[in-house]
Amino acid sequence: MTFGQAWRLWTVPILSYHRVGEPKGDHVPTVSPESFEQQLAFMARYRYRVLSLAELVDRMEHGQPIGRSSVAMTFDDGYEETASVAAPLLRRFGFCATVFVTPTEIGLPGFMTWDQLQAVVQDGFAVGSHTLHHTYLPLASSQQVTQELVESKQTLERRLGRPIELLSYPIGGFTPEIQAIAKASGYRAACTTNRARSRMARDLFALRRIKMTERDRHPILLWAKLSGYYDLFRRLEHPS
Ligand SMILES: [Zn+2]
Repeated sequence: MTFGQAWRLWTVPILSYHRVGEPKGDHVPTVSPESFEQQLAFMARYRYRVLSLAELVDRMEHGQPIGRSSVAMTFDDGYEETASVAAPLLRRFGFCATVFVTPTEIGLPGFMTWDQLQAVVQDGFAVGSHTLHHTYLPLASSQQVTQELVESKQTLERRLGRPIELLSYPIGGFTPEIQAIAKASGYRAACTTNRARSRMARDLFALRRIKMTERDRHPILLWAKLSGYYDLFRRLEHPS
């Protein structure tokens, strides 16, 4: 690989968090408040520019340049700790983020209530849909996919009084047909996990994200994840 080819592999890092809080021994990827705070402090210290996902999508849509020290942050599922632990820390550092919620889970034990969601919106969080029932879309019929995407969008728009234009596929699962339904349903972009292929790096309906873990308090790991070349590091480590 030449230097020029490697340079073009840069993609803006979109960080993916689930729960920020004390580990509960369940399957939910969890980052402790201490590690999260260290991650934010690193970004502040080295002057990373935290863009909202909407701003990032705007820039990608219009082919505008994105600074090499840019980063965006997302929180999936809408756990209660997103409001009680992550939001206050983000506010302290002046950083913004997007939370992807599943309307049928809002208010259930362990999840944010509508009041908490409204409060984080007032705080500057953007909200996106994570489908109506946290459905793994590739196994659903086209009619079900449409319902999951349209009804979650409408419910969130009605309750929050603002347009919902971003989507996160549960478990990162999507197909070209699901992407087409998302576009037709009025979304502007959709996030997946890190498993989408590199050639799709600039696909607005397959935005890859970097899964953040407790270990990412270590500066070298964090630096690699924020570099925009994380996928390249991974490929060098695990050549296919
Ligand atoms: Zn999820």
